Amino acid sequence: MTTMRAISVPHAGGPELLEFIEVESPTAGPGELLVQTRAVGVNFIDTYHRSGAYQVDYPFTPGAEASGVVLEVGPGVEGYAPGDVVTTAEGSRTYAQRFVVPAEAAVHVPGGIPHDVAAAIPLQGLTAQYLATSAAQPQQGDTVIVHAGAGGVGLILTQLLVARGVRVFTTTSTEEKRELSLAAGATEVFGYDDFAERAREATNGEGVAVVYDGVGARTFDDSLTALRVRGELVLFGAASGPVPPFDLQRLNAGGSLSVTRPSLGHFLRTPEERAWRYAEIFDAIAAGRLDFRIGARFPLAEAGYAHEQLESRATTGKVILEP
Ligand code: NDP
Repeated sequence: MTTMRAISVPHAGGPELLEFIEVESPTAGPGELLVQTRAVGVNFIDTYHRSGAYQVDYPFTPGAEASGVVLEVGPGVEGYAPGDVVTTAEGSRTYAQRFVVPAEAAVHVPGGIPHDVAAAIPLQGLTAQYLATSAAQPQQGDTVIVHAGAGGVGLILTQLLVARGVRVFTTTSTEEKRELSLAAGATEVFGYDDFAERAREATNGEGVAVVYDGVGARTFDDSLTALRVRGELVLFGAASGPVPPFDLQRLNAGGSLSVTRPSLGHFLRTPEERAWRYAEIFDAIAAGRLDFRIGARFPLAEAGYAHEQLESRATTGKVILEP
């Protein structure tokens, strides 16, 4: 039996539960790749799985995102060979020294992209890409708000929107984060207490076309207040907790507003759609138009500490684990 080390969560709870243990190494089944992990992407959803906010079966090894080198190609897989460098947002149990991914959910990493950046691209990069192009479609000259502007998704989404000619306002909680958000292209950076008023002032009373809200409970109501007539609220996460039920009449009173609650999986429906979204990100990196900030990296064994940092708002950009 080949063994490896992986993070395991025995039951739902806090970051202190994450343990680094010896487990049996997986093998590649039909249609799958076995990958030697080089870098693991930490995402907010991993904390929802650990805490029990999203239901999973325990004991549980977190992780959907990682980059690495193909070790084994399962039966029926074409287009991959051992030694290929791949990355994915759709793996499972990636907080491990090896992981398995369906070949159709992996992509080849173009030469020149380091492993840590390759692990940072898929989940937050594809999310920012579908938010900018598909979940809402702000036009050149429109003004939008991106909450948590110095976060993983926030920094990428800001850059993609600015490149499309959209004016981006953001929220952040510290001066350091404010500076990072401005460097990513935000024109105004607000605090969380008064962003709705300040966005309205900065748009001559009109309000903004779209609010991208991954913060949730703390910001939802003010996000609706910040919208212009027929504006759209894209609620894509709950970093501060889930949004409680609300009265739909609020959308009428606010000016025929719309709310959508999208999820990345619904925007990767076909191989063509996945390939298009990845290509936009890889092309933007190659052209020097998109910078992926690795804000922190920790040994895989310290995954619990990484969760603690992410949940306590101590991080900026991407958090990476190294096996
Ligand atoms: P971030 O790096 O953005 O981290 C979350 C940030 O949210 C914090 O750094 C913090 O920034 C801000 N925040 C505000 N209030 C709180 C709070 N009470 N507790 C914690 N953080 C708070 O994370 P990600 O980029 O990984 O993810 C951002 C959001 O996007 C998450 O909600 C995630 O679930 C969601 N997501 C959704 C996807 C989808 O398809 N729907 C896919 C991927 C991610 P500050 O200190 O500046 O306030």
